[in-house]
Amino acid sequence: MERFASAADLIAARKPEGPVVCSRPHAAARAARWFVENFNGDVAYAYKANSSVFLVGALYGAGIRHFDVASLPEIEDAATIPGAELHYMNPVKSRESIRRAYHEHGIRSFALDTEDELRKILDETRGPSGQARDLVLFVRISVPAINSRIPLERKFGTSGAKAADLLVKTRQAAAELGITFHVGSQTMTPDAYINALAEVQGLIGKAGVVVDRVDVGGGFPSVYPNMQPAPLARFLSAIEEGVNRLPVRENVRLMCEPGRALVAEAETLIVRVEARRGSDLFINDGGYGVMFDAAHLGWIFPARLVGREASSDQLVPYELWGPTCDSIDHMKGPFLLPSCIKEGDYLEIGNVGAYGRAIAGDFNGYGRYEEAILDDAPMMTMYGDANVSPARTSSR
Ligand SMILES: *Cc1c(COP(=O)(O)O)cnc(C)c1O
Repeated sequence: MERFASAADLIAARKPEGPVVCSRPHAAARAARWFVENFNGDVAYAYKANSSVFLVGALYGAGIRHFDVASLPEIEDAATIPGAELHYMNPVKSRESIRRAYHEHGIRSFALDTEDELRKILDETRGPSGQARDLVLFVRISVPAINSRIPLERKFGTSGAKAADLLVKTRQAAAELGITFHVGSQTMTPDAYINALAEVQGLIGKAGVVVDRVDVGGGFPSVYPNMQPAPLARFLSAIEEGVNRLPVRENVRLMCEPGRALVAEAETLIVRVEARRGSDLFINDGGYGVMFDAAHLGWIFPARLVGREASSDQLVPYELWGPTCDSIDHMKGPFLLPSCIKEGDYLEIGNVGAYGRAIAGDFNGYGRYEEAILDDAPMMTMYGDANVSPARTSSR
């Protein structure tokens, strides 16, 4: 993998015709170190956010040994990481994948939110001597999404009397019983975790079970031009307070599953402007590519002109259009860029490391990326100034 000091150096050397996904492994490593040092438990990387070997390698180098996986292909991939402990946290799994996860890949940790799924797990992990005795089973409960920009509450999770009943039944089958939830991705304030842990507290009381593990899931935020979340330290202290109130033993084992917060700022995209029509820029990647969230959720990513000096400092709003022939391939932004942008210019679109490359498709023949590593700082960071205040866009 070729390595450059910055996007400008890459452009000078390569003049790329297509989009380039650039990794900043040092940014992933910094994020991972922060979580490993500050979270009082296992930090499991949510593999689906970005499976780049450069980023996963950096996370590993920074001490990440646990991985949250959701499918057999992810498991087969992550199982090659030495010493990795995998957690199969998708609440709906195929029987074959459960069987192979347990028997071929040594996975012991599974999530579930119904009795049917518990049955599937018990059936498929059974051995010649009967029911598995080493299962770590996490009951996924549904919790309200509060201040999440991508709520996940409708799809998975159990609650109330059903949840209490499932906890009791799972307790009987599990070597270790866990409770887990997901507050929704890009959660801007810690309230959702406080609230979720209060639900956990109520449910443990209702079910009257001994709980060995608590997994607070993912949802930790990153920073984007129009989204300045609370500092990450506040999330961890809110979680600590909530956990301290739980009726569990002192040494209950905690886990979190950050995806976005570990990798969002560790990838950046270089695109070229193929046409300018007023304040509309036609670029060579878009909503079917790395910029899915910009097209489909209206997200704004930091953007800057690279490869030449702007003729003035004045920034003006632009809308972006992707390269496919589909009119959905539109990113309304606004993306603030110098007024002088013209055809042939290169733009750096920052902080696309979470769910960018991971969900890019190849519709219309696009979706092929050159790759490179950059050594400079991410355009925006959550990890500046000892994480006390959300950082701003760095200057060029
Ligand atoms: C997607 C997912 C995560 C990661 O979520 P982020 O919002 O990226 O932190 C964690 N746990 C589970 C079960 C998930 O499905």
